[in-house]
Amino acid sequence: MYHADKFYLNGAWTAPAAGGTLAEIVNPATEAVIGTMAMGTAEDVDRAVEAACSAFPAWSETSREARLDLLERILAGCTARKEDLAMAISAEIGAPISLARTAHVGLALAQLDMVVKTLREFAFETPHGSNTVRREPIGVAGLITAWNWPLVMVCNKVATALAAGCTVVLKPSEIAPLDARIFAEIVHEAGAPAGVFNLVQGAGQVVGAALCAHRGVAMVSFTGSTRAGIEVARNAAPTVKRVAQELGGKSPLIVLDDADLGTAVKTGVMQLMMNSGQTCVAPTRMLVPRDRYDDAVGIAAAVANGLKVGDPSDAGTQVGTISNRQQYEKVQRMIGIGIEEGARVAAGGPGRPDGLAHGLYARPTIFADVRNDMTIAREEIFGPVLAVIPYDDEDDAIAIANDTDYGLAAYVASGDTARARRVAARIRAGSVRINGASTDLSLPFGGYKASGNGRENGAHGLAEFLECKAVIG
Ligand code: NDP
Repeated sequence: MYHADKFYLNGAWTAPAAGGTLAEIVNPATEAVIGTMAMGTAEDVDRAVEAACSAFPAWSETSREARLDLLERILAGCTARKEDLAMAISAEIGAPISLARTAHVGLALAQLDMVVKTLREFAFETPHGSNTVRREPIGVAGLITAWNWPLVMVCNKVATALAAGCTVVLKPSEIAPLDARIFAEIVHEAGAPAGVFNLVQGAGQVVGAALCAHRGVAMVSFTGSTRAGIEVARNAAPTVKRVAQELGGKSPLIVLDDADLGTAVKTGVMQLMMNSGQTCVAPTRMLVPRDRYDDAVGIAAAVANGLKVGDPSDAGTQVGTISNRQQYEKVQRMIGIGIEEGARVAAGGPGRPDGLAHGLYARPTIFADVRNDMTIAREEIFGPVLAVIPYDDEDDAIAIANDTDYGLAAYVASGDTARARRVAARIRAGSVRINGASTDLSLPFGGYKASGNGRENGAHGLAEFLECKAVIG
């Protein structure tokens, strides 16, 4: 059993203020309680912000080398404890252990490494004629993270904020508190000065809301649903703090008529199904030429049917569970709505996969005959559910791709890279990946429209935590 009963405040593990409650930590594969965690209050947030405010003047004036030293020690600490981190992530969100090791922890380490590289090269002061533009840390940063890629978000936000010279208060998702606690132990071991990094667990509506409203917090960096992102911005507005939002998506994959259909469809399905479809940039709408539609649906269904869904602790498992019961029920509800609205189930469907009687397992589901005005094509499902939509020509494909409230990511498959780039230029989204290209962590990451307004990663991500000052004369 895990006992996450203390918060990390001002350099020490500290008992919660009076009035907090205990919540259960549930393993979604067994639905067994695997631990308990303290849920913070506004008073805990006050203590954390006070510590971060006290630490800010000294930390904001540290040299680049001192910050690099700390970040490199944190990276080394995470590397040394990567198996603990992978086990925690697998237990708390039901990610297959192989995915937890390679993707969850692997990407988190890569993020830390990228922050180190970015900090090494970042120009905090640039001449402008005889004047100067200085980039200065904005102040105390409140960091609120989601459960789907928990450690990646924690590492990226914390490391970037510290690199900028900010001090931080982290509120991880209550669904995934364990990896964040291990991370806090690592930061402590790495020798972060007291108050530079603080951790308060608890509910978004309580701890998250208090952090957003707090006068001592200069900026909130938030990843999660658009619904909660709006609340964050509302609560932050009276104190005019900066809010960086990384929100939901309904990302299209346009398979152009000159693409290798088999490769494009298979790559798209695999990218979506990874992490049980719980990825903000997942390609959830697959747009294929009408005259290749049936072939595309057949390939997608075969790929989905071939996936090994099951026990996350089994090294051969490709798809684990949905992370929590509320989300599991949402996925089931959305599959039901897809059927009610007339989409055809080409693979998967409601309920659990055959042979899995317990646990929050959903069936990798391919919906055919989907129109872009159906609920399953408009709302973020955050589960292993693909909508395959036919299009008539390139203009029609681009119109469907852009006909969404979201604009986080998009994907284009084509035999002609120049053509794919021309299509990419017409898509309203923060990133467009061509032919299954893997991500580059030095590039900006974020959304258009309801997918948010912040940019993470690389120099753009670091700039989010900085104020800009003109020194004239
Ligand atoms: P939320 O957006 O509610 O949770 C994300 C984080 O925000 C959590 O730490 C949460 O706290 C916190 N939070 C919630 N409400 C507030 C608030 N009013 N003020 C400050 N912080 C708050 O995600 P859910 O878990 O509810 O997931 C629901 C849907 O969100 C999913 O179905 C999916 O569509 C989408 N989602 C998108 C993600 C993305 O990366 N784009 C990530 C996760 C979810 P708490 O610990 O209490 O949940």
